Amino acid sequence: MPELPQMQALAERLDAELRGATLEGAEPLGFSALKTVVPAPESLVGKLLLRVGRRAKYLVFSFGDDAPRMLVHLSQAGRLDVERPPKKTRAKGSVARFRFRDADGEDVALLVREYGHERKAAWWVLAPGDDGPLERLGPEPDSDEFAELVLHGDDRRRVHTILRDQRTVSGVGRGYADDALWRAQLSPYASLASLDESQRTALLDAVRAVLANGLALERERTGGLSQPKLGEHFEVHARHGTPCPRCGEPMRRVSYESHEVTYCPTCQTGGKVLADRRMSRLVK
Ligand SMILES: [Zn+2]
Repeated sequence: MPELPQMQALAERLDAELRGATLEGAEPLGFSALKTVVPAPESLVGKLLLRVGRRAKYLVFSFGDDAPRMLVHLSQAGRLDVERPPKKTRAKGSVARFRFRDADGEDVALLVREYGHERKAAWWVLAPGDDGPLERLGPEPDSDEFAELVLHGDDRRRVHTILRDQRTVSGVGRGYADDALWRAQLSPYASLASLDESQRTALLDAVRAVLANGLALERERTGGLSQPKLGEHFEVHARHGTPCPRCGEPMRRVSYESHEVTYCPTCQTGGKVLADRRMSRLVK
């Protein structure tokens, strides 16, 4: 899933490409991907795009204070193509196409589409003052609020769970959660409440460092976000079986809450191989 670094860098590229463009059309192409009825997408036609930004994993298209905003969420397998010139074809998994005339008078379109079978990518047109799905989001990882939570919070859930919970902190998914725990040398099963002061500081630094590092790498991409696989910038996520970049021992994986966590037993769990909870439940 695209996380904060992928979405931030994508928002920056789209802003550079489209700021000052006029929206010519917003076409729903996928069943039920448009999550709002009012305002209608047509109400944005003819409006000037002032800015493309990001909040959590959402792209935010701003057309001015008095105009509706448009949000796009790519979910797990949603991707975005920049079409210059715009196409009329409807590729498999198409979600929506947004057509613009840019500041130079050239036609350009954004095609949102989804790989695989899940249909979770979505978009919203929000009336002024309506935060829609943004309302429920926790703070950004670079905020003081998040620092306070990590350094002094007594949340008893596992750190991995907390990092992925968008209501607690927004923008992190399982990829950067794996990388942050590895960097902080914490067990995937560690709970926040159990961490001492130095571990909490290490965790906060690690979360911010992996995101900053990821963003620097993502800024080297060009165009949209079209590639089906986006994992090339992770330090350890999904790299089980390969040598740990720190100690050289093989990385392992463990199934946890319906997905797999990559970790290094030597660096993160005192050499202990974690039991696969899902498997042990089945065996029992
Ligand atoms: Zn290691």
